[in-house]
Amino acid sequence: MLGSLLLAGSRSRLVRRAVSGFPPSRRVVGRFVAGDDTAAAVAAARRLTGAGLTVTIDHLGEETHDAGAAAQAAKAYVILLDALAALGQGGGAEVSVKPSAVGQALGPDGDAIALDHAREICSAARAAGTTVTLDMEDHTTVDSTLGILRELRADFPGTGVAVQSYLFRTEADCRDLAGEGSRVRLVKGAYAEPPSVAHQKKDDVDRAYVRCLRILMAGKGYPMVATHDDRLISISESLAARFGRERGDYEYQMLYGIRTDRQAALAEAGHTVRVYVPYGDDWYGYFMRRLAERPANLAFFLRSLTSK
Ligand code: FAD
Repeated sequence: MLGSLLLAGSRSRLVRRAVSGFPPSRRVVGRFVAGDDTAAAVAAARRLTGAGLTVTIDHLGEETHDAGAAAQAAKAYVILLDALAALGQGGGAEVSVKPSAVGQALGPDGDAIALDHAREICSAARAAGTTVTLDMEDHTTVDSTLGILRELRADFPGTGVAVQSYLFRTEADCRDLAGEGSRVRLVKGAYAEPPSVAHQKKDDVDRAYVRCLRILMAGKGYPMVATHDDRLISISESLAARFGRERGDYEYQMLYGIRTDRQAALAEAGHTVRVYVPYGDDWYGYFMRRLAERPANLAFFLRSLTSK
């Protein structure tokens, strides 16, 4: 209930203005966001890779309805990737891109504009010796995002995509995406979705996650197991063993600032662990989704409003 309210708030301009303009918000946001600019993102990437983790960096922003802003978002990625190139092999970092940040929501030409910008980002990633993963947004964007992925993979075969176990369609999408060379990040899903398209109960989402994971682990691609859920991590280990996957034939992914102890422990045990590092000043939607996932985060946020 509280989670649904927060997700509704994540799309309200009024709530956005109130939360974004409140100075203590920024302090709390720093727990989940690496900083405002490229330098902060690169510094976080260096710190995490120095500690034996890998990273995927997200330039914050989504649902852009302005063509100039979409072009600016793509440019921000190119600048970031140029900075990462200077570290060699992308500095152990890849990037995550939300298609809606680079033009997908711009009406009938949105797909083509997002594809053009995504190509530009993929070229910069290739020059930096790294890859791109497309984030998955609300269910109305899935066909478009998978279409953009197909086009990109023709020229940039290493491009990955996120899929969400809460959507009924995702098992079938996993079957389509489990082929040779594909990189698939499996998440539970972070948007408010109607019962016509998505599981509503946590247990059903978790069970669907296991079914999707089984398909990906049995397939020929590279599964990216993105969860903080210990039970799913241990099921993932069993499935990897059952399908003869070594460490390095799949990876774990977690969000910046969440379960950092678990991230370190998995990396110490020899797993590839990729931390999703968001940066930039358009943090509102991302931040609200993190609050919605965990009531304790909301309590932390509210406490910070009353402390100095
Ligand atoms: P949960 O059942 O939500 O959590 C399991 C445990 O993890 C909790 O008990 C708690 O201990 C801890 N935990 C989880 N969330 C938090 C939090 N916010 N703060 C503190 N502790 C927490 N979603 C999309 O829809 N599209 C994407 O492209 C996408 N990309 C992602 C990339 C990565 C690398 C990750 C890790 C997640 C991504 N997500 C994305 C978000 C995802 O869909 C879930 O909303 C989020 O990961 C929480 O689900 P969980 O699997 O961790 O399980």
